[in-house]
Amino acid sequence: MTTVVNCPTCGKKVVWGPQARFRPFCSERCKQIDMGAWAAEKYTIPSEAPEDPSSSAPLDPTER
Ligand SMILES: [Zn+2]
Repeated sequence: MTTVVNCPTCGKKVVWGPQARFRPFCSERCKQIDMGAWAAEKYTIPSEAPEDPSSSAPLDPTER
């Protein structure tokens, strides 16, 4: 049984499995693009709080 998802960034088919390190993205590049867009939205409003990578981990979209 093979699950195939579409990369949210470019729409390319991604085989869902242990080898798909960047799932649901097809590549690290697509993941970075999406995360960049996400971060850009999140930080549209300037905040005094410094960016803390340890507390900004996004929820896994596949769990929602
Ligand atoms: Zn992609």
